[in-house]
Amino acid sequence: MLLAARLAIFCLPMFLAAILSAQTITVSQPTIWVSKPDVAAFEKIENDRLAAGQRAIGTLIAAKGPRTIENTLVPYDEAVRQNNSAGYFAGLMEQVHPDAPFRDRATALLTKASAAQTAIALNHDIYNALAAIDLSKADAPTRYYVQRQLLEFRLAGVDKDDATRARLKKLNDLATEQQSMFDRNISDGQKTIEADPSELAGLPQDYIDRHKPGADGKIHITTDYPDALPVFNFAKSDDLRRRLTLAFLTRAYPKNQDVLTNLMKTRYEIASLLGFSNWADYNAADKMMAKGHNIGDFIQQVDDASRPLAKREFEMLLAEKRKTNPGAKEIWDYERSYLSELVRRSQYDFDSQSVRPYFPIMQVKQGILDAAAELFHVSFQQEPNVPSWDPSVETWIVIDSGKPIGRFYLDMHPRPGKFSHAEMAPVLDGIRGKQLPEAILVCNFPVPTATDAGLMDYGDVETFFHEFGHLMHHILGGQQQWAGITGITMESDFVEAPSQMLEEWIRSPQVLAKFARHYKTGEPIPAELVARANRASAFGRGFWVARQNALTAISYDIYKTAPDSVDLDKATMNANRKYTLFTPLPETHMWASFGHLGGYSSAYYTYLWDKVIAEDFFLQFDHKNLLAGDAPMRYRRVVLEPGGAMSANDLVKNFLGRPQNMVALQHWMAEEFDSHSAASQSSGK
Ligand SMILES: [Zn+2]
Repeated sequence: MLLAARLAIFCLPMFLAAILSAQTITVSQPTIWVSKPDVAAFEKIENDRLAAGQRAIGTLIAAKGPRTIENTLVPYDEAVRQNNSAGYFAGLMEQVHPDAPFRDRATALLTKASAAQTAIALNHDIYNALAAIDLSKADAPTRYYVQRQLLEFRLAGVDKDDATRARLKKLNDLATEQQSMFDRNISDGQKTIEADPSELAGLPQDYIDRHKPGADGKIHITTDYPDALPVFNFAKSDDLRRRLTLAFLTRAYPKNQDVLTNLMKTRYEIASLLGFSNWADYNAADKMMAKGHNIGDFIQQVDDASRPLAKREFEMLLAEKRKTNPGAKEIWDYERSYLSELVRRSQYDFDSQSVRPYFPIMQVKQGILDAAAELFHVSFQQEPNVPSWDPSVETWIVIDSGKPIGRFYLDMHPRPGKFSHAEMAPVLDGIRGKQLPEAILVCNFPVPTATDAGLMDYGDVETFFHEFGHLMHHILGGQQQWAGITGITMESDFVEAPSQMLEEWIRSPQVLAKFARHYKTGEPIPAELVARANRASAFGRGFWVARQNALTAISYDIYKTAPDSVDLDKATMNANRKYTLFTPLPETHMWASFGHLGGYSSAYYTYLWDKVIAEDFFLQFDHKNLLAGDAPMRYRRVVLEPGGAMSANDLVKNFLGRPQNMVALQHWMAEEFDSHSAASQSSGK
C-alpha cells in the first residue's frame, strides 16, 4: 500500500496504468471449447446448432398474417447465425484438429452444415416470405440485407422447377464434398526430401541447428512452409532448391487430378442450370466484379500496368544469374526467390537474414497487437486457461471504450495434419447486443523454445499483419444487427483489401521501432536498416504482381469454359509463360496444391483486385506518421465498421471519394526505383 501510494505521487501515469491493467474484463460468452475437447462434445454442439437453425426456419414458415421483419427476417437471420456457427466450427476443426479421425468427423459435419444452407437457399417458401416483407420503414442496412439475400436465392436457383432444384441441391452438396477433399489432400500431402548436410550452405544458422542429420546421415526437409521457404530463399545449392520445388509443386498429385476435374464439372453444371455460360460468370454475379469477362479485362489492365517494371526487374535477376552462369538466357521459376535475395544483397545492400534477429515471434505478436490497438483505438486482453485442441492456442478479447467487442484465438505453429498456410477464419458472427464476433488466426510460424527465440522472416511478419487485418475487419465490422451482413460477410472480392492494407504497416519505421528489438541485445532495429529493408523489399514487386496475375489467369481460365476442354497442366504452363517471364519447371503440377482453386475457384483475382484498393486506401494515410490526422479513425468508421451492411463499391467510394484506380498500385510497384535512385544520388553513386 505504502509503496503504491509513493508511486502514485511520483509516477502517476504508471500507477494508473497498473490499476487499469489490473481491471480484468470478463466475457460471459463461452469459448470454442467449454470443456475437455472430444468428438462427442463437438458433435453435440454442431447438431444443436443445426437443429436450432432448423427450428428457426420452422418458426418463419409457420408465421401467420403479413410478412414482417419480426416474424420473418428475425427467424431467418437466426437460422443464418446457427448454420454459419456450425459451418465455421466444422471448417476450423477440419483444419486444425491434431487427430485424423476427428478431422474426418469435422469434414462430415461441414458437409451437413453446407447442406442445411443449400436447403434454405433452394426453399421457395422462404424466398417468397422474404420477398413479401414490408421494408418501407426499415433502415438502410436491413433493406440492403434483404435485397442481397433475394439475389443470392435467385443465384441458388430458387425460382427453378422442382427437378432442377433437386439437382442443384445434389450438385451443391457434391461440390462441398469435393472441395473438402481437395483441401484435405493438400493438408495431408506433405512431402519430405533428403539432403546432404553440405547442401544447407547459405541457410540461417538456427535453421541448420534445427535440421540435424538423422541416423542415415541425411537431413530431412519437409514441404511445410517454415521448412521449405528458407531453402527457396537462401540455399546455395541449386539442386536442393530444384528437388524441393519439385516435391513442393507435386503435393497432392495425382490425388487431386480427378478431385479438381470433378469439382470443375460440378460447378460448370451448376452454372449451366442457372443460365450462365460458365462458372466464372456465375461466380462473379454477386461480387464487385459482377461479370466473368471483367476478370479477363482486369488481368489485361494489370499486365499493362506491371509488365515494364517486371521486365526491368527480370533483367536485374538475369544479370545476377550471369555472374555465375555467363550464357544464361532464362530463369527457372524455382530460382526466383534465391536470385531476388542475391540482388537485394548486391544492389540494395540488404540481407533479409539481417532483420530476422529483430523478429522473435513473441515480440512480433505483442508488437502487432500494440500497433492494431493504436490504429483502431482498441485494447487486447488475454484470457487464461482456456481449454483447446492444442495447448499452444491462445485466447484474447478485444476491448473498445472499456467494453468487450469480440474475441479471437491464435493457433500459430505447425503440426502434422494442420492447414499448412496462414489464414483468418470467423468462429462466430457478431450481432449487436446478442453475440460477440469471434475469429481465429491459423498460422505456421516458428515455435519459440527455451533455446530458440523463434525468429521470423520479414515475409512472415508481413503475413501476420495481413491476417490480423482480416481479424480486425471481422471484429470491428461485427457489430451489426444481422448475422447475414456482419463482419466479413460481404462481397467476397472485397475481403482481401483491409488485410493487404495492414500489411503496409510493416514498412513503417514508426511501427517497427516499437517492437523490433534484437532478441539477444534488446537493441532496437536501426532506422537505417529499416530504410534499406524497405528499398530491398520493394524490389520484385513488378514480377510479384505478374506472378499473381498468372495465378489469377489460371483460376479464371480453368473455370471460364467447359471443363472437358481444360488441360490443367497446359492451362497452368500457358498462364505462367504468358504473364511471368520465368520458365516453369517441367514435371510439376502446381494446380494440385493450389488450394484457392477450391475455395476461391475463379475468383483468385480477389488478391490483386483488393491490392489495387488496399494501395489506394493506404495512400490516404500520412506515410510519415500513420496515426496522424483523421485517416485512421475514418478508415475504421467508413471502411471496417459497416461490415457487409452496404455494397463494397460504396465503401470504397465513401473512403476515397471515387472508385479505385491503378495509380496507387503503379506507384507502389515503382517505389524501389524511385527510392533506389534517390539513395544512389545521395550517396554519390
Ligand atoms: Zn487474406
